[in-house]
Amino acid sequence: MPQPITHLLLERKVLGNFLGDAVHQGDIYREEWTSFGQDIFYVKDIIRHTHPQRYNVVSDTFHWDGSYDEFCSELDILKSKRNEDRDGSQKTDLDQLGADIYRRYLHAVGDLIFHPFVYRAAKDHWRNHPSHEYRRHKVIESIIDAYLLDVLEGTNPYEFRYNDHSMRPHTSLELDDNLFEVVNSGIKLAYGKSGIFAANGVDYEKYFGRYSSDDPNHPLRDAYRDFIFYTELLFAFHKPLRHISGLDCLVPLEKINDDQIRLMNQDRKQWYLSDNPEMPRYSVLELLNLAVKVGTKIVQASERFLASDFAISHDFFAIHANNVVYLGQNFNLDTGLPSSENLALVKLATIDETLRYGVDMLAANYKTIENYV
Ligand SMILES: [Zn+2]
Ligand SMILES: [Zn+2]
Repeated sequence: MPQPITHLLLERKVLGNFLGDAVHQGDIYREEWTSFGQDIFYVKDIIRHTHPQRYNVVSDTFHWDGSYDEFCSELDILKSKRNEDRDGSQKTDLDQLGADIYRRYLHAVGDLIFHPFVYRAAKDHWRNHPSHEYRRHKVIESIIDAYLLDVLEGTNPYEFRYNDHSMRPHTSLELDDNLFEVVNSGIKLAYGKSGIFAANGVDYEKYFGRYSSDDPNHPLRDAYRDFIFYTELLFAFHKPLRHISGLDCLVPLEKINDDQIRLMNQDRKQWYLSDNPEMPRYSVLELLNLAVKVGTKIVQASERFLASDFAISHDFFAIHANNVVYLGQNFNLDTGLPSSENLALVKLATIDETLRYGVDMLAANYKTIENYV
């Protein structure tokens, strides 16, 4: 999970090309929450404890497998809603819903592009997360947030006012019904029915299935409120939070020093020491550009699907988007590799083997994206 601002900047760069100023309209919490994507259950119950289960395993599973399937399910639902809206009376709502669906998958894209770098810089393990390395992982991501804001917008995380609803006064504290329905169905189809949850030890019934859709405390609705509460707290009460271990590394950085800037790899060092010349050397700024490029391709292909005669986006992408990296199969948002590699990855004994695994595959995907015009 690169920190929230990186995902927001990426989403605005990509969708700005399609939606123009409309990207800045509508509900601010909704925009932030959808760009927070697969991370939403990491902050559920972090402060309020409304559910006895730990939902972290849900967000972990979202990262390891199934995000492409979920994206496709959501696009298919959107398309059928658009077909039903014959008189166009729902058009504004459905356009907003389309942006939400894109944002959720653009979160995945941000992770896929940045995480292979972050994990190597921190020497973190995608699944075991040793505590010292995991902390470093979070710190590097906070530096990336502050660095990108400084370079791209000339501001810092506090002046940027991440989710300041006073900028958009009509913002609601409750999850929109259309958005709830689409995400809830997307999760059910991609994770509950497909068996991906079961394969990762997550009981769909326990975490989602037993809640009725109109339950005001459905875990998705609670995750929305918890997200608002958590991010408000993070930006408003950053000083006291700096002293709470576990939360301290999540507090956004106001200023970054030269040592921290060096971690952004402007001098293009190998991400991890290796004899393999394919070990990537991209800087953080280059990574952002790659994420914008591939994110734009994905949205373009999706718009073509929505305008086509196809009802099933999986089928459309298989035929018409086979040159678009991250369309066509599920990827692991932590390793940047196809989810089909997960089994081989868990068998590796050391962190060194893990961080050297699949580098040729990774490099080939980055190169494909680099060559997009
Ligand atoms: Zn991360
Ligand atoms: Zn994430």
